[in-house]
Amino acid sequence: MMDQIRHIVILGGGSAGWLTAGVLAAEHRVNSTDDIRITLVESPEVRTIGVGEGTWPSMRDTLRRMGVSETDLITQCDASFKQASKFVGWVTGEADDYYYHPFSPPQGHGEVNLVPAWTDLKGEPRYGDVASFQPRLCERGRAPKQAATPEFAAVANYAYHLDAGKFGLFMRKHCTEKLGVRFIPAHVEGVETADNGDISGLHTREQGLIEGDLFIDCTGFSSLLLGKHYGVPYISTRDTLFCDTALALQVPYPEARSPIASHTISAAQRSGWIWDIGLPTRRGVGHVYSSAHSSDESAERTLLEYVQRTAPGVEPAGSPKKIDIRPGYRETFWHRNCVAVGISAGFIEPLEASALVLIEMSARMIADELPATRELMDVVARRFNERFRYRWSRIVDFLKLHYLLSRREDSDFWIDNRRPEAVPPRLLELLELWRYRPPSSRDFHEIEEMFPAASYQYVLYGMGFRPDPQEHLRRLDNPAAGLRCIQTTDKLVAKYLKGLPSNRELIEHVATHGMKSA
Ligand SMILES: Cc1cc2nc3c(=O)[nH]c(=O)nc-3n(C[C@H](O)[C@H](O)[C@H](O)COP(=O)(O)OP(=O)(O)OC[C@H]3O[C@@H](n4cnc5c(N)ncnc54)[C@H](O)[C@@H]3O)c2cc1C
Repeated sequence: MMDQIRHIVILGGGSAGWLTAGVLAAEHRVNSTDDIRITLVESPEVRTIGVGEGTWPSMRDTLRRMGVSETDLITQCDASFKQASKFVGWVTGEADDYYYHPFSPPQGHGEVNLVPAWTDLKGEPRYGDVASFQPRLCERGRAPKQAATPEFAAVANYAYHLDAGKFGLFMRKHCTEKLGVRFIPAHVEGVETADNGDISGLHTREQGLIEGDLFIDCTGFSSLLLGKHYGVPYISTRDTLFCDTALALQVPYPEARSPIASHTISAAQRSGWIWDIGLPTRRGVGHVYSSAHSSDESAERTLLEYVQRTAPGVEPAGSPKKIDIRPGYRETFWHRNCVAVGISAGFIEPLEASALVLIEMSARMIADELPATRELMDVVARRFNERFRYRWSRIVDFLKLHYLLSRREDSDFWIDNRRPEAVPPRLLELLELWRYRPPSSRDFHEIEEMFPAASYQYVLYGMGFRPDPQEHLRRLDNPAAGLRCIQTTDKLVAKYLKGLPSNRELIEHVATHGMKSA
């Protein structure tokens, strides 16, 4: 019985550490059994990354399963509701250049192909507007649910924007007070290794040796266990996705009751893009750029000009915080009795906000497949590595699509992005296929695909990609059925615009009255 997995030690108390602790503790009911213990160790002196404000809808289920109150999340994490990403200026950079990637799938998705009916419409409306009711709700600042909708339930599929620092503290409180996770504030200075090469303990400055059976490395960019201790190689994606630096700022609202956007804005710039996220008390704004195509000074000017353009006369709170991103991921994520989750496993760039969801997925798989013994761990590790290697490659493909389809010519950044040698071959192959048919589930085989066919359709058609020849597509589908779906979208827009409050109204209601429990 020596090799049973009893004590899980999580190193790092950022979003990755606490989300993993919460998922594992809730799944294995740590509170009510002595079988499994979870300890989270965090350095009192190494700060968390402090960004990461956009989530995916999966976060609702993750938090609900942990027993989190959604009302508490909204009020204690300065959180707001997010329904989509709006991409501004990515295609041509002209004034009316925008498209949406909403969280709801296209109307009739999987059964009806909307493309022939959509391209037949006069004036060719935006694909996102015919396929989903959400872009028009977002344009009007609407919330995704009503005041009476219970916690975690939705009228329109939604995720959150939240304050990353507050979220970490919120999760720490929940995990330690409700889920039985032990928290040790201590700085790790070294690793104790067993004869077989496993990690047997962590040497801390304050608390001596902390022993465990499974170690989860959530140490962010330092990747202390998987990267530094085990030296697992890093696969750089810089040749494909050039953005490697970020400048992050917080911007106050001009007025206390300024509207709160219910979507992330991703605004393309000459050498990268700017994220703009609306929280109840402030905006989080940041510029992600390629250091090979822009100096830090020029990037900072671009960011400050954006702030002035979008909130004239408003001074940002403090100066921009610079974050170096080494875009890429580890060759393997689970090595011996150590698995990396979060930035220590890899980080590319925050376009499409895929980092927190990957943390949720990693934690879920560790929880679901938690090996009972050390022997079983190697099997689970192999499966984990295979699954997440696939996921990282799919993230690279999908992010690259946004750059590849751009027609911008205003800088080398955009031109270089379209060079064939900078594009994954799988993506080029799929684009060939999609000239004759829309992306479908046949192109994406996993049950939990990070970016399914629906996401590809929003980006492809939002960015002006057109199937060719049209006649072939027409044979594949039924334009009359497509038209009916488009009419349904219009009806839903009219209905929801009547019934849904603004994002700010809903958030203020939640702050005063709370939400009904689910
Ligand atoms: C610019 C930017 C924007 C982003 N935007 C988004 C977004 O919109 N959506 C999204 O999903 N993701 C986003 N991300 C990613 C997201 O921020 C991270 O995935 C998430 O915060 C998880 O970080 P982490 O917990 O892995 O690392 P960190 O937050 O860096 O935490 C590391 C932890 O390790 C601890 N630690 C380090 N060394 C030691 C030691 N020696 N001893 C003990 N403890 C130690 C630290 O104290 C800390 O608690 C963004 C990232 C960046 C850089």
